Amino acid sequence: MRKPIIAGNWKMNLTASEAKDFAEAVKTKIPASDKVDSVIGSPALFLETLVDSAKGTDLKISAQNCYWENAGAYTGETSPAALADLGVDYVIIGHSERREYFHETDEEINKKAKAIFNNGMIPIMCCGETLETYEAGKTAEWIEKQITAGLEGLTAGQVSSMVIAYEPIWAIGTGKSADAQIADEICGVVRKTVEKLYDTEVSDALRIQYGGSVKPENIAEYMEKENVDGALVGGASLKADSFLALLDASK
Ligand code: PGA
Repeated sequence: MRKPIIAGNWKMNLTASEAKDFAEAVKTKIPASDKVDSVIGSPALFLETLVDSAKGTDLKISAQNCYWENAGAYTGETSPAALADLGVDYVIIGHSERREYFHETDEEINKKAKAIFNNGMIPIMCCGETLETYEAGKTAEWIEKQITAGLEGLTAGQVSSMVIAYEPIWAIGTGKSADAQIADEICGVVRKTVEKLYDTEVSDALRIQYGGSVKPENIAEYMEKENVDGALVGGASLKADSFLALLDASK
C-alpha cells in the first residue's frame, strides 16, 4: 500500500506574512504522517519561515525549483545544498509552467533530480501534455518520453522513493480537470514506463500524483483510483481551510 501524498503548489502567490499565518493556522491540524504526507510547495522566499513553523509537526516543506549545482556563479538561482541545509524535504521540478515560460528541458530536469537526491531531498517531478497532444491521442507517447528522459541515470532506490506528478497542461488552473478515469489511465502509463525502465518493485513503490484543478470537492474521486497516490494542488492549496480539507479527504 502506497501512502498518499498531497502537495500544495503555491506558485508565485502569497507574501511572507500570509505564508506565516497559513502555517500557524494549519500546523496543529496536519494529519499524522503515517496516514498521509502533507506538503507545502512554497516560493523560496518563505521556505525558512515555513520550515520553522513546521518544526515538530507532520507538515513537510517543498521548494518549487532549484539549480543543479550546489554553489557558484549562477546569479539568481537557488542551491539545492542550501535548501537541504534549511530543512526543506522536497523540491518540485519540471512543472509545466517552468518548462513553458522558462524553457526548462528534460535534460535539465534530470540534472536537478540528481542534485536533489545528492542533497538528501526528494524530487516531485512533473510531467504532462498540451491540449494539442491530448487531442491528437499522443499523451502516452509524450509521457513515456518525458519520464524516460527525466529519470535517466537514477537508481532503482531513488525512483522508488520519489514522486511523479501527472499534470495535463490543459487542466492546470483552468477549472477543467481531467476526469478521474483519464487521470488513472495516464498515471498508469507513468507506472508502466517506470516498470519497463526498472522493475515491478520500483513501479509499485513509486508514488504518482494527479494535478490540475484538484479541489476539496473532487479530490476523493481521484484518490480512489488505483494509480493515483496523491495530488499536486495549486489554487485550492492557497487557503488554510481548503488545504486542510484536501488532507482530510485523503487520509
Ligand atoms: P491548479 O494547479 O490546482 O491550480 O490547477 C496545479 C499545478 O499547477 O500544480
